[in-house]
Amino acid sequence: MVFKIIGTKKRCRGLAEEFKRIKQIALPKCLRLDALKSYHDSLASGGHIGREKVYNSLMEKYWWNNMHQNVIDYVKSCDRCQRAKQNCNPNRPPLTKMPQVGRFDRWHIDVLGPLTKSPDGYEYVLLVVDAFSRWCEGFPMKTQNAKENSRKSLQWSCN
Ligand SMILES: [Zn+2]
Repeated sequence: MVFKIIGTKKRCRGLAEEFKRIKQIALPKCLRLDALKSYHDSLASGGHIGREKVYNSLMEKYWWNNMHQNVIDYVKSCDRCQRAKQNCNPNRPPLTKMPQVGRFDRWHIDVLGPLTKSPDGYEYVLLVVDAFSRWCEGFPMKTQNAKENSRKSLQWSCN
């Protein structure tokens, strides 16, 4: 077993000089992923803790070259953390009310499907809703491509 002995400033304030050094196990490559999983994913470690906490915990026992970057990459790649992360985009405009408009001035359009295919081959429904009156129309469509979608929308607006 290979050790690396380092002096730490953070953990050792006020300790005698001989206690200011810690032994770290130089972890072989084949065990690094297990260590990352154990320190980040497991509930015993706190469950999906941040990269600095993972790094600091790992650093108390283990060492390998480029460990800090490996921890950052591992936490960044954690699906569960990415889903739970709050969107902190400062450029995101606030949600506001849509302006009031008259009848048939603004439509809401959506495509439903794929649904059970009809004997004529229709599989989708183009749903058009008037924002003012909430009047809605549905048009059967064979595909949901833009060409058919725009043709049906025009057909609806010209009626
Ligand atoms: Zn995570």
